[in-house]
Amino acid sequence: MSDNTSPDFIRATSCADDYDPDAMSVDSARKYIRAFLNPVTLQENQPLRSTLGRVLAQDIISPCNVPNHDNSAMDGYALNSADFPQHGLVTLTIAGAAFAGKPFEGSIKSRECVRIMTGAGIPAGANAVVIQEQVQSNGKQISFSTIPKAGQNVRRAGEDLQLGQVVLPAGHIMRPADLGLIASLGIGEIKVFRRLRVAFFSTGDELASIGNTLKSGQVYDSNRYTLYGMLARMGVDVVDLGMVPDDPTLLEQTLLDASSNVDVILTSGGVSVGEADYMKQLLNQLGQVVFWKISLKPGRPLAYGKIGNAHYFGLPGNPVAVMVTFYQFVREALLVLMGRPNPAPLPLLSVTCTEPLKKASGRTEFQRGILYPDANGIWLVRPTGNQGSGILRSMSEANCFIVLPEHCGNVGAGETVQVQILEGLI
Ligand code: AMP
Ligand code: MG
Repeated sequence: MSDNTSPDFIRATSCADDYDPDAMSVDSARKYIRAFLNPVTLQENQPLRSTLGRVLAQDIISPCNVPNHDNSAMDGYALNSADFPQHGLVTLTIAGAAFAGKPFEGSIKSRECVRIMTGAGIPAGANAVVIQEQVQSNGKQISFSTIPKAGQNVRRAGEDLQLGQVVLPAGHIMRPADLGLIASLGIGEIKVFRRLRVAFFSTGDELASIGNTLKSGQVYDSNRYTLYGMLARMGVDVVDLGMVPDDPTLLEQTLLDASSNVDVILTSGGVSVGEADYMKQLLNQLGQVVFWKISLKPGRPLAYGKIGNAHYFGLPGNPVAVMVTFYQFVREALLVLMGRPNPAPLPLLSVTCTEPLKKASGRTEFQRGILYPDANGIWLVRPTGNQGSGILRSMSEANCFIVLPEHCGNVGAGETVQVQILEGLI
């Protein structure tokens, strides 16, 4: 490990053989970060709808069976399939009707059936439903020769959820289906973890705010906008601390103020070679921060550590590198901190790449790709154009990352690559 970055909390794990801050693999960096994440513990009761995107702090246990009674899956006639021969024409008398919410109160006798609508309770004595398209009816009797088996077209009580079953575990992130699922149990308020507070700011003397005319050598600060978007999508409370010039006093003040107010601080810029020593000194005074050169393109420099109680991520300044490092390191860390103990890895799908890709072995690359269907509906991928880490347009054009692992070199047209879909992420 490097000389001036040996804080206690990293020393603890740096005994591992593979710890090399100047050549950290993406997986090792994730593993080290993971070792220091302490999830929020404070819980709050919330009405169901406002829990969308939040992390469950309790197991949801079913207080009932869903559905709570056997009911019909189709419009047709409820009958007892054991009441007649299993072949030939059958004629039954219609004894009444059952509608969703208005059950047939009696019970079916021999050679009787009950007109039944989807969702209506199966009457006593019936065990199957013959669908209306398969019967002849004169209003009093039905005849049919397609004999339903016991249980056919019947939704069983508890077939969706059973009384006492853990429906969703603590740590689950609430999605639209979950809102409905919990509503189907009659539960209107649940416990979720408090929202995570995340502050961010951009560093760099060359940055200008939108609304100002650019002077020679200046660029507009775009990273605060992509960071805002990525964080907002994750459902955290976002604190935008603006732009801070490369001035040690201002940077120190901003970092210290933030560390007492938020759970996580993100910065962009100022952690690459040339600037790193200066930021290193400052961050080592303030907290316990390590600087890594990750075997990753784009996104080689990355700083991680603690400033006070706040987790700190120093992301690179290049606009694409900010997004790649956010999705590869920050996203998963935020999920853990939000109360989700084991975030599932993002799915990797194998697809044929239709164009050659330039790739140096020894680092993981996240090239920007476009997934598209060919004339036969088979999905293929091609790279967006220029893969420079400053070409933010490539992220807007892309609908996937083409993930090229550390060991792989150039890829030929027609070879299989792995992709991570951006839909839902960005
Ligand atoms: P740095 O990591 O500070 O050396 O910055 C690397 C590159 O990213 C430089 O070309 C910077 O001008 C650019 N950059 C840094 N911060 C931002 C930002 N907030 N918005 C747009 N570009 C940036
Ligand atoms: Mg800079």
